[in-house]
Amino acid sequence: MTVSARYEEIKLPSGTTYKQPLGFFINNEFHNSSNNEKMPVVYPVTGEQVCELEIASSTTDLNAAVKAAKDAFPIWKSTPATVKRNLFFKLADLVEQNWEILAEIESFDTGKPLANVSRGDIGRIIDCFRYYGGWIDKLHGQSFIPSDKKICYTYHQPLGVVGCIIPFNYPLSLMSWKWTAIACGNTAVFKSAEQTPLTILYFAQLVEKAGFPPGVFNVVTGYGKDLGDALVKHLDICKIAFTGSTFAGQLIQKNAAVNLKALTLECGGKSPIVIFDDCKFEQAVKWTCIGIFSNMGQICSGTSRCYVQAGIYDKFIEALVDHLDKYYKIGDPFDDKTMVGPLITKIQQQRVLEYISTAIKEGCELVYGGLEKPQNISKCLEKGFYVRPTIFKDVEPHHTIFKEEVFGPVISITKFDEFDKVLESCNDNQYGLGAAIFTQDITRATVFAREIEAGMCWINSSNDVDMNVPFGGIKMSGVGRELGEYGLANFTNVKAVHLNLANDL
Ligand code: NAD
Repeated sequence: MTVSARYEEIKLPSGTTYKQPLGFFINNEFHNSSNNEKMPVVYPVTGEQVCELEIASSTTDLNAAVKAAKDAFPIWKSTPATVKRNLFFKLADLVEQNWEILAEIESFDTGKPLANVSRGDIGRIIDCFRYYGGWIDKLHGQSFIPSDKKICYTYHQPLGVVGCIIPFNYPLSLMSWKWTAIACGNTAVFKSAEQTPLTILYFAQLVEKAGFPPGVFNVVTGYGKDLGDALVKHLDICKIAFTGSTFAGQLIQKNAAVNLKALTLECGGKSPIVIFDDCKFEQAVKWTCIGIFSNMGQICSGTSRCYVQAGIYDKFIEALVDHLDKYYKIGDPFDDKTMVGPLITKIQQQRVLEYISTAIKEGCELVYGGLEKPQNISKCLEKGFYVRPTIFKDVEPHHTIFKEEVFGPVISITKFDEFDKVLESCNDNQYGLGAAIFTQDITRATVFAREIEAGMCWINSSNDVDMNVPFGGIKMSGVGRELGEYGLANFTNVKAVHLNLANDL
């Protein structure tokens, strides 16, 4: 493994040029692959390769990253809280100063619309660093005085080296959530998603610039099945914070048993959204679209299973179609008017088209979108991995798209009459990430929020995220929570101390 001075000058579709680091990041330096392996990065809009990155080997290079984090742990752990806090604030400032370039690289890496998705994502990252920076000098335990002969107290102590595994759908944003580990005094090795490795390497330069000690934050680039797998099995890693598919989450839970690693798993979902006759109609239409069609439906908590009460069923579907026609323009992510870019890869595009094809074959009624290529997109985008926002109605519980996570811009709509039956149907699914309800009846909304089997419930909105509020699911959607004060509990051990003050006992 050698230190890499290799950067590639990349011209973004906006005309901006920047220098992309090609190596992975260990000890505040970029490195080349010890076995000279490289991995292509593809622009989802054109399907063309834009550069090749160094792959970290799952032995020599991963060991070096873990060793760097292990060596940095005692230093970082004992760094005064105010110094750590100020470094987080400095990093947030640097992200803010680099907001536009980070957003552009994120759009280049993922195909996300720049104006309507990526800029917002980077804004939330800045919030996240400030939010968790603010916690650093407020992390404390409890004390209990059972009698004048004894004092008991607790410490919240960092765990050690944490492995953080990130998916492709919100690469930088979901990375920032896992910086909670570093806020709690741990050091970390991050593994980026193989489809979206660019932005995190650019961001790594800001970490060094902010003044974080070498080894606190490391990034390895490579594939899940070997590099991710080796990270999970590494004996010097004491915790894995994973976001990704339920399939990989299950494997990780098994493999992490090797040294009884602590785990948080943020996995897939099939979240319901229930629209009652008494809803605020326009509000329900708008949020239903946001809940499944933003980020091209590549949202873990996307409200893809829509139940509409019989009284407004037809009118609601018509309104969804009008709303999509009016606001969800498909196109070039670097065009400010674009709301819908391509999916992440050709494989993902084919997977989603297959779900659409299965739904048609199984007899679901296609109302909007479907298998055809989007109309009126420019010629140069024809090779992009686009899928049109798609609506199916009259979907029933036995249909595949009713049950499985599509992870694309596809909504299934089902008619319902009664509260109890719709609640039962919502809960009859392997996942339990989010759920949304639209009604003006506060009792109904409150009972729904209490009884729904999900980690999160939105009343009269969908997929609203706040740094102060925990995010995560139950059942096959995962284990543990990120964000908010609850998110801190993932990354510390609680130590109990019993202090005996009695001289005679
Ligand atoms: P994925 O599981 O294929 O990959 C996610 C990450 O895990 C990648 O970095 C990948 O390289 C790595 N990985 C894959 N197999 C691994 C293994 N055996 N060991 C270790 N690491 C491995 O998921 P994806 O396709 O990138 O993301 C989409 C999925 O993520 C969807 O199912 C979505 O619902 C889920 N997701 C969940 C949340 C949440 O907070 N619950 C958020 C975003 C995405």
